[in-house]
Amino acid sequence: MLTFFPEPYPDEFLYSIIARYHVWSGNEELSDTMEELFGNRREKATLLIPKHLKRLAEKTKEFGLDYETLLYEHTIFPFITCFLNKAMFDNALNTINSDLYESTLFIYKHYINPRFLKYCPLCIRDDRDVYGEAYWHRKHQTYGVNMCVKHRCYLMDSRIDISDNRKNRYIALELMDDIKETIKQENISECRVELQIAYDVEYAYENYAYIRRVLCEKHSLVREATISLLFNRELATQKGMVRTKRLREEFKNKYISTNLKQMLVGLEYDRKSDWLITLCRGGQNTVVPIRFILFVNFLAGSLEAYIKLVNEQDEFIKKEKDLFSRPNGYEEKLIYYRKRWLDAWEKNPKGCRFNLVKTDRAAYTWLRRHDNEWMIKNSPQITKPKGTIINKDWDMLDSMLVEMVYEAVNSIKNLEGKPERITKANIGRYMRQKDTIERNYKLLPKTMNKIEQYVESTNEYRLRKIEWAKNEFKREGIPSIPWMILRKAGIRDEDWNKFRYLFYT
Ligand SMILES: [Zn+2]
Repeated sequence: MLTFFPEPYPDEFLYSIIARYHVWSGNEELSDTMEELFGNRREKATLLIPKHLKRLAEKTKEFGLDYETLLYEHTIFPFITCFLNKAMFDNALNTINSDLYESTLFIYKHYINPRFLKYCPLCIRDDRDVYGEAYWHRKHQTYGVNMCVKHRCYLMDSRIDISDNRKNRYIALELMDDIKETIKQENISECRVELQIAYDVEYAYENYAYIRRVLCEKHSLVREATISLLFNRELATQKGMVRTKRLREEFKNKYISTNLKQMLVGLEYDRKSDWLITLCRGGQNTVVPIRFILFVNFLAGSLEAYIKLVNEQDEFIKKEKDLFSRPNGYEEKLIYYRKRWLDAWEKNPKGCRFNLVKTDRAAYTWLRRHDNEWMIKNSPQITKPKGTIINKDWDMLDSMLVEMVYEAVNSIKNLEGKPERITKANIGRYMRQKDTIERNYKLLPKTMNKIEQYVESTNEYRLRKIEWAKNEFKREGIPSIPWMILRKAGIRDEDWNKFRYLFYT
């Protein structure tokens, strides 16, 4: 039984808590401390996760620190498992307490551990102010993190060599005699990438459960999101093929000037197990978390943005997918077939859709597949029961309708309140003949001609709105200045300059 155990500070590394215990216990030999904490004098000191963490947790439970709390809040376990798929995660969790531990999860341990324990000089100063002592922060010991997010400065290496297993001891930060408390001012623009990586790592720790849920639940979207993002940067083809050579180049360019460039080694030599390509394929089976961070940072700008994209933007992916499924030369074909379809209609002005299909089946087939909505809108309507439109005398109808146009335009112009734009659709609406006109506009040339005379351009419409706004202020007796009028008229700020002349001539 333990008589005491230090209360952990925020984001304190388990190594640090044990080191502080050792100091407070007054033990001269570390093996005595190991005996007390792990029930084993020969328990090795480690920077990662103590092999017998469960034994320690048994003893610290009564101080409010159970196994989960120690593992998830005070070791790098969340970071090294954050991006694993379910099977690999289960494997990691199971092997953590067994002898397999070293051989499986940490094959890549050179990419999981930084070389030395690190510290932020300004955090040391702050922690001493707030807590009375400094301690080793967990996120600073995470591989790939070179900066302190809070102080936006570079971390410093202590002389505690993480990779040297034989000499590992638990040493409290306050016992170090060569700790620096000052920094040189960083040029933030030069270390933007590294600062972002540090943010991403912090985000991973703080949103661990959420990230794991998104990546596991929406696993099928991961690859699609990735390909979409690559596609946006022209690093994947429409069919989803990754342009690997170009990707490697751009990826390297992003990181080559940073301290993270060591991660790039192997990209060009190790084609068989090219991790960059594996990640593109949505593979989460990488056990090197920093690679995942670099990758999504490259793709989406930050881990947070990437996770958000996978989680929320199913819609976005769907849209991108539609884009993928579009055939080559989509835009040209669209215009081409639409024109052919309208030509077919012109040849059969009174025909039904079936007649048009017979006239140009190719256009029909293509539009049906790729532009169905437009095709339906621009086809003769399904024949209604006899006695209605079919039997109409189009010339007579045209002559009747043309007389109604002027009146409709007038009613739009004299509307109360903010002006409505005079468009074809709107005129038709005020004539109460919108559908008839839209469906049969080819059969109503006089009416269409008249309508077109009145249709307003954007500019004409804006001028009319401005005139209206001016009168409104006058009517209400409110003195107005130009920007008030423009705002009331609904003219966007960026267009204000275009209308200055109205007020200053
Ligand atoms: Zn700091």
